[in-house]
Amino acid sequence: MALIVQKFGGSSLAGAERLQRAAERIADTYRRGHRVVAVLSARGNTTDDLLREARGIAPELPARESDLLLSVGEQIAVAHMAILLHRMGLPVEALTGRQAGVLTDRVFGDARILEVRTERILRALEEGRIVLVTGFQGITEDGEITTLGRGGSDTTAVALAAWLKADVCRIFTDVDGVYTADPRILPEAKKLSAVSYADMLEMAAQGAKVLHDRSVELAMAHGLVFEVCSSFHDAEGTLVGPAESADFCGVAVRQEGEPAAVSLIGAACSREETFEQALRVLEPYAVQGAALRERCVTAYLPKEKAEAAARALHRQFLS
Ligand code: ADP
Ligand code: ASP
Ligand code: MG
Repeated sequence: MALIVQKFGGSSLAGAERLQRAAERIADTYRRGHRVVAVLSARGNTTDDLLREARGIAPELPARESDLLLSVGEQIAVAHMAILLHRMGLPVEALTGRQAGVLTDRVFGDARILEVRTERILRALEEGRIVLVTGFQGITEDGEITTLGRGGSDTTAVALAAWLKADVCRIFTDVDGVYTADPRILPEAKKLSAVSYADMLEMAAQGAKVLHDRSVELAMAHGLVFEVCSSFHDAEGTLVGPAESADFCGVAVRQEGEPAAVSLIGAACSREETFEQALRVLEPYAVQGAALRERCVTAYLPKEKAEAAARALHRQFLS
């Protein structure tokens, strides 16, 4: 009997049909005799909707109350899932970050998990229940509600898996795993069967939002291997772990600001000749500046050039 942590992202919980599908996955794992802790994100676009509504009142949100507000999305998700699993006849307990013992620092909006006090989760598991935990939120030592930064539910899942010493940690999302680039931007991107902590950390930090960067940092610190896979079908996903990946891992794009940033990631990026080669490939895309770090070459360029530049880098180094 294994202890399995499963995490479901917002798009995997949007609408009744997807909620049902995630519930069946949880139920199935439980019925096979495993102990299950499921971490849920807010359903669909709930977090964005909460933010938009609040910014309609005032464009600048006080940090503490912003966290109080945003933590609601995940609470709705675990409550909905608990209602559904209960209707399916399964014993279930839904917990907030506080109830699950997710202790963080006081940095509202970008809090870091310091520790997970697992007693309550362990008790519920011991008593045979499926445990649902709100992703993305925690509590400070003095009882303030915090959130972990956008996409932070991944980090909750990894933290729970680490502190519970889970046998398996799976991040279920709306793509089949980690690809060599965002498959929605570059359909030619290929799925990676495995990716090293170091490369994944850099991919996430440079804009690959498939994983929250701190989830990778935390997994690396605890030596926890986890899998990113599809919540919609059963294909194998991507293992994130200690094994070194190929010379080049992928391309990431950051398009929120101006200029945009396009990065090539992989162990071979530390070579001076890779930097020069990448800059040559990017010449037609009005590069405004570039940086070379240990496993990453980043070029800054106008937003409207970013996708074409990413495609050119991908073609040169990853196909
Ligand atoms: P969830 O709601 O499950 O947390 P996210 O939207 O946060 O899902 O992350 C999944 C999305 O990440 C995918 O839909 C995809 O567009 C994007 N993405 C960005 N880079 C990558 C990549 N390298 N591999 C896979 N997906 C990526
Ligand atoms: N609901 C939060 C967000 O939208 C956390 C997450 O999805 O991981 O950023
Ligand atoms: Mg996410």
